Amino acid sequence: MTADPNCIFCKIVEGKIPSRKVHEDDEILVFHDIQPWAPVHFLMIPKAHIPSLAHIGPQHEGLMGRMLALAPRLALQEGCGPYPEGGHRVVINTGAEGGQEVHHLHVHVMGGPRPWLKG
Ligand code: AMP
Ligand code: ZN
Repeated sequence: MTADPNCIFCKIVEGKIPSRKVHEDDEILVFHDIQPWAPVHFLMIPKAHIPSLAHIGPQHEGLMGRMLALAPRLALQEGCGPYPEGGHRVVINTGAEGGQEVHHLHVHVMGGPRPWLKG
């Protein structure tokens, strides 16, 4: 599994930085965002170091599909209300102009009662 020694999310995957884990399998790690924008806010990441959505190719279609399919199930598990009254927001910031600060691909999943800090 490829890791970048300078990447904060690779360090979380390796257990060198602690995280509040929501889900883990062979290829995906999910943990709570340290500065939540919403009552429920967790991040889904591939364990492999992929810098951004701009680096995704055909070889990643299975991984991306599995992450997206996992999002609503974990959102419900973490306290988001059911669709359609509840629901959740899924965001992938990509590149500087896309608002990406951590350059290890991550999917934000946010939900819970409003108002939220952002959005
Ligand atoms: P982005 O702007 O999309 O790159 O978002 C990066 C997110 O990572 C922000 O919401 C941060 O709060 C979150 N974050 C940064 N460091 C950690 C950490 N050690 N544990 C959990 N979340 C983190
Ligand atoms: Zn990384």
